[in-house]
Amino acid sequence: MAKFKEIEALYIHIPFCNNICTYCDFYKMMARQDAKSKYIDYLIRELDLKLKYLSSIKTIYIGGGTPTSLDNELLEKLFKAIEERINLNKVKEYSIEANPLDLDINKTNLLNKYHINRVSIGVQSFNDARLKFLGRNHNMLDVINAINNLRNSGIENINIDLIYGLPDDTFSKFKKDLKQAVRLKVNHISSYALILEEHTMLYNLFKEGKFSELDGDIQANIYYKTNKYLAKHGYNHYEISNYAINGYESIHNLTYWNNEYYLAIGASGSYYLDNTRYTNINNLKKYYEGIDNNHLEYLEENKLSTKDQMAEEVILGLRKVEGLDTNRFKDKFDKSIYEVFGDIINDLVNKKLLVLTKNNHLKIPKDKLFVSNSIMERFI
Ligand code: SF4
Repeated sequence: MAKFKEIEALYIHIPFCNNICTYCDFYKMMARQDAKSKYIDYLIRELDLKLKYLSSIKTIYIGGGTPTSLDNELLEKLFKAIEERINLNKVKEYSIEANPLDLDINKTNLLNKYHINRVSIGVQSFNDARLKFLGRNHNMLDVINAINNLRNSGIENINIDLIYGLPDDTFSKFKKDLKQAVRLKVNHISSYALILEEHTMLYNLFKEGKFSELDGDIQANIYYKTNKYLAKHGYNHYEISNYAINGYESIHNLTYWNNEYYLAIGASGSYYLDNTRYTNINNLKKYYEGIDNNHLEYLEENKLSTKDQMAEEVILGLRKVEGLDTNRFKDKFDKSIYEVFGDIINDLVNKKLLVLTKNNHLKIPKDKLFVSNSIMERFI
C-alpha cells in the first residue's frame, strides 16, 4: 500500500465575488450578506465534521471566489473558528486570495491580526485595456495601494497572478506586466495562459466571432520568454506556471504537486484522502443539506487504484521544474517507477521529452514545458 504523509494542507473555498470576470469558470457567485453569513456558518460546521483531520495542518489556503469580498466581521468569524480548531503554531503558511480593491488598511490589518502570512492577489494585468477585456474592475494604482497596505500591516509574502495569451498578445506587451511585477518586488508570481473555458462570457464572445484565439506558437514564445525574463530577475521557476524568490515557493501548492493527501472544506472544494479524490457538491442548497444530515454530498468521489495513484504521482511530479523524485516514488509505492512505466519513460527519454537528472529526478526539459500536458498524458 502506498505511503502518504498525514494531512498537512487545508483548503477553504469561499464562492463569493464582488464582480464576475469574463474568463472565469470557478464555482463562484455574487451574493447578499445574509447568504454569505449562512455559508460561513456551514463552513465552520463542516470544519467541525472534519476535526479529526486537523491535528497536523501546516498550511491553510483560503481561496475562491474572492475570500476578501467577505466583510471584516464575517472574515473575523471565520478566522476565529479556524484559530479555535487548528494549532496555528504549527502552521507555516497561511494564505488568502484577494482582490486588490478589497485590501484597504483595515482589511490588511485584520489579515495580519489573524496570522495570515501570505496573500495572493488576483492582478492579472496592470494594463487597463487588458483588465477590461478580462472583466476586472481594478487598475494599477489599486494594486500598488494593496501591496503597500499589506506591507504596512506586516505581510511581506505576496503573490500576484498574471494572465498572458490575450488576443493579439505578444511578449513585448506582456513584458510590461512582468516588469511592473518585478518592480513591485513581489515574492511570487503565477503566470497563466488565458484559457477559453466553456460557459464563460469570453467563450461566448469567441463563439460569436468577436475575437480570435492567440496562435499557439505565439503563446509558447511568450511562455518561454517569460521564463527567461523572470529567471534574469531572480525568480526561481519551480512549477510550470509558478515563479518565486528563493524560499518563497508555495508550501501549500507543493503539497498538491508532491501528491500528498490534503483536505478541503466548502462547496466545490476538492481533496485527497484515503486513496480517494473527493469534490464537495457545487450547489449551496445540497451542500447545506449534506451538513444538516451529517452526510456530505459529493460532486465526485473517486477511489483510485494503485496504478492510478502512481500515474498521478508522475503527472503531478512532472509539473515541478525539478521533476519527479524517482527514489521517493519507490519509497512511497514499494516499486520502481521503471517497473511500472518503463516503456513510456524510455520512449519519452529517447524523444528528448523527458530527462533523468544526476539526482534521479525525471523532468521535462525546460524547452518542452509548454507542451507538458501532451507528455503527462502518456502516463494516463
Ligand atoms: S477570476 Fe476570481 S475574482 Fe474573477 S470571477 Fe473568478 S473567482 Fe471571482
